[in-house]
Amino acid sequence: MDIELLESTMAGHGQPAYRTRQVWEWAAKGAAGYDAMTNVPAPLRQALSDAVPFSTLTVTGEQQAKDGTVKTLFLTHDGHPVEAVLMRYRDGRRSICVSSQSGCPLTCTFCATGAMQFGRNLTTSEILDQALHFRRLEPIDNRGEAPKPRDTIHPSRGGGASPLTNPGEAPKPRDTIHPSRGGGASPLTNPGEAPKPRDTIHPSRGGGASPLTNCVFMGMGEPFINFDNVIAAARRLPDVGITPRRTTISTVGWLPGLTRFIDEVDEPIRLALSLHAASPGLRSQLMPVNDRYPLPDVLAECRRYVELRGRKVYVEYVMLEGVNDTPRHAAELAAILDPKSFKVNLIPYNPTGIDNKGAPAYGGSSRDAIAAFKHVLDRARIPATVRLTRGRDIAAACGQLAATR
Ligand code: SAH
Repeated sequence: MDIELLESTMAGHGQPAYRTRQVWEWAAKGAAGYDAMTNVPAPLRQALSDAVPFSTLTVTGEQQAKDGTVKTLFLTHDGHPVEAVLMRYRDGRRSICVSSQSGCPLTCTFCATGAMQFGRNLTTSEILDQALHFRRLEPIDNRGEAPKPRDTIHPSRGGGASPLTNPGEAPKPRDTIHPSRGGGASPLTNPGEAPKPRDTIHPSRGGGASPLTNCVFMGMGEPFINFDNVIAAARRLPDVGITPRRTTISTVGWLPGLTRFIDEVDEPIRLALSLHAASPGLRSQLMPVNDRYPLPDVLAECRRYVELRGRKVYVEYVMLEGVNDTPRHAAELAAILDPKSFKVNLIPYNPTGIDNKGAPAYGGSSRDAIAAFKHVLDRARIPATVRLTRGRDIAAACGQLAATR
């Protein structure tokens, strides 16, 4: 929902400011449309539905993986593709992965988004509408925290009209999600919080009154190039039920945004750095942005974040077969990190099939190669986990849905 348009429309109708807040709260709690907003006068609801589209995004495709992951492709009003993913975990967590840009101007050679044409920065509302879409997909779970009296959404209405879920019906234990199935990895999980395969399903746990618990800015785009809109969206996510501690911004190390993030953002939002190679030559080959903002400068800034915020930075390292995955590469990585400041997430590569400028497409490292790599980090006492795969059968990796349109 375009919040600025909502505000100006309300003002045009001489409405008090609290009405805007009321409408936004309904939307943030998963209302399916203006009609559901029973404490908003009917004529005003009608005026709003004429003037303010309920979402700034239109859904053009949706896929559901065997493990419960849902990937949605949207279009902006001016026709730019945007993709986002919902991951459902057995412990009740619901993590969303959102895009900050349509396409991406950085041309990381292994990334499907990097191979697409860059569109533009997304607005704050376009970022939030990805979250609201999934908020509507997830039935409200009243077995968690009891809704407060102001939470006026009725479970039977809040579910929204999705072909994928049964609106209003709380997930049954049968709707189990098997994070251990599906193989491979997605960049779309919350770093450092990989669910344990043995978790049993308790839909009422973890989420409290909100069916969405975590958000990662790991969809299309570089969040720190679109700093203001990303931070404004992150600051509204608590209305959707996602706290700053459960929000993670992932960056290639875009220094101007990273510096502003450290200096200007007080909320305890988590930081993840896409590192992928410790040596300058290889990193520049994988991520041309490394020539512009060299890794030592980026790591120095990350350490400043750790000092100031007292939280570790997650390092993302996508495992590319024969490229950056040998024990030597692991030793190089261990040499530039310190266990007090960083925690490494090894990401099994989701092959994209994109042509690497004439060179053969990248392949994912074997399990054995990943284990050997992790062993080197373990011995150096650098905390490291191997990220679980989600949604591989629906190509739920960065840019993959939009790129195959
Ligand atoms: N521009 C930001 C956020 C988007 S990408 C960044 O790069 O951090 C989020 C993560 O997904 C990055 O770590 C990226 O390297 C990784 N990624 C991209 N394509 C992937 C793929 N095909 N398989 C696995 N991880 C991928």
